[in-house]
Amino acid sequence: MSDQAFDLISIGGGSGGLACAQRAAEYGAKVAVIESHRLGGTCVNVGCVPKKVMWNAASVAVGLADASDYGFNVTVGDNDWPTLKGKRDAYVLRLNGIYERNLATKGVTYVRGAARFLDKGGVEVNGERMTARHIVIASGGRATVPTLPGAELGITSDGFFSLEQRPKRVAVVGSGYVACELAGAFHELGSEVELFIRKDHLLMNFDAMLGKSLMREMSRQGITIHPHVVPASVRGQSGLKALWTADGREFSGFDCLLWGVGRGANIAGLDLSKAGVAVDDSDYVVTDGFQNTNVKGVYAIGGVTGRAALTPVAIAAGRRLSDRLFGGKTDRRLEYSMIPTVVFTHPPIGTVGASEAEARAQYGDAVKVYVADFTPMYHALTTRKTHTDMKLVCVGPEQRIVGCHIIGSGADEMLQGFAVAIRMGATKRDFDDTVAIHPTSAEELVTMR
Ligand SMILES: Cc1cc2nc3c(=O)[nH]c(=O)nc-3n(C[C@H](O)[C@H](O)[C@H](O)COP(=O)(O)OP(=O)(O)OC[C@H]3O[C@@H](n4cnc5c(N)ncnc54)[C@H](O)[C@@H]3O)c2cc1C
Repeated sequence: MSDQAFDLISIGGGSGGLACAQRAAEYGAKVAVIESHRLGGTCVNVGCVPKKVMWNAASVAVGLADASDYGFNVTVGDNDWPTLKGKRDAYVLRLNGIYERNLATKGVTYVRGAARFLDKGGVEVNGERMTARHIVIASGGRATVPTLPGAELGITSDGFFSLEQRPKRVAVVGSGYVACELAGAFHELGSEVELFIRKDHLLMNFDAMLGKSLMREMSRQGITIHPHVVPASVRGQSGLKALWTADGREFSGFDCLLWGVGRGANIAGLDLSKAGVAVDDSDYVVTDGFQNTNVKGVYAIGGVTGRAALTPVAIAAGRRLSDRLFGGKTDRRLEYSMIPTVVFTHPPIGTVGASEAEARAQYGDAVKVYVADFTPMYHALTTRKTHTDMKLVCVGPEQRIVGCHIIGSGADEMLQGFAVAIRMGATKRDFDDTVAIHPTSAEELVTMR
């Protein structure tokens, strides 16, 4: 076994690992990235990027449905899934190549293989020992599959991106954002979709208004939502799948069943115990506010920490860590608050800050909430309608805005700028004093009474 010494090794070449490694290399550090699958990680290969391509395709389908209402004489056929998948895969492959070239340009050593800890300063990959002053665990998350009979007959979001054909009838199990996004994409591209959820609402981790509105919109579009379903088993029947529930109900005839029941830490095979790295009860690597683990010189960022599992969060944590370790910015760290995020459903959701319930639990009667709901002007001419709901959560006599929640067409592109203002401490008065842009949906956010 030869021994290669680096300043920094990143285990994982996904969003966080690549960002951390490249920033360190920009400071002149000698850096290696070890990646067992494809560069870019979840986001590029089986997450944000291919998901957004599918959402874009679904948006085209939604637009085509309205075309005749706007005077177009179009005949619309089915979506050709293999063509869409082929173009999507080619795009992702191009991105993989760009990521590899970026590493080379920055002088980062790229090692293809699975890393495991030998001790706190060294890992083994492809039979080689590699050592570094600093090792960052950036191995991400993985989709969870419930342990019940026949669960292996279902796919996860990873499997969604491998489907060569569009399934005719799909069962999606789960109520989180991945389940909702993929159920929506299937539906808009032509599958019959049934969504099975444990409680009575979608998106339980978000402001309640968003889940309720999305449920109404999805039902209106023709997605069948089954609340209070606890899956017990999955059975195969002549190539089709049947879902059996804990209370004895059977839902059958699906040619695809997708588990969208959450994600866990991807620590399999890392041998964390050899380095003495602590994990919590859910196997997430425990980190402090500076991404330090309990072991000096070993850090963790992104999905493997279980903290706000989003690409920009992993990137920001990784870059700040390298700023601190190699850029002399000793206080640099990521604040895990006021993180804006979008759920790519139709209509999309944009959300930042505290939900109304969270704000009321923290601030009690000092909370004042403003809401707006309307049908966007786009639908003045269409038979198909969608609805927009907005909420501002304000606190104290100055009415500082601590939460902003939007579901409606355009919410995905609307939120980023508002998130800047809210993070800077904007008050309701600041919003009121901002001149509206007319005619838009966004103007409702600065005209709420
Ligand atoms: C379907 C889906 C949609 C999503 N959509 C969005 C979105 O719209 N916006 C958003 O912000 N986030 C989205 N996310 C979340 C986002 O993809 C993750 O938060 C982000 O990729 C986390 O980055 P990471 O660097 O922590 O991990 P990852 O990107 O998962 O990278 C980890 C890498 O480590 C590698 N690895 C693991 N173990 C080893 C080992 N032992 N040795 C070497 N390499 C190893 C893995 O192969 C992987 O490439 C989505 C996720 C999913 C599943």
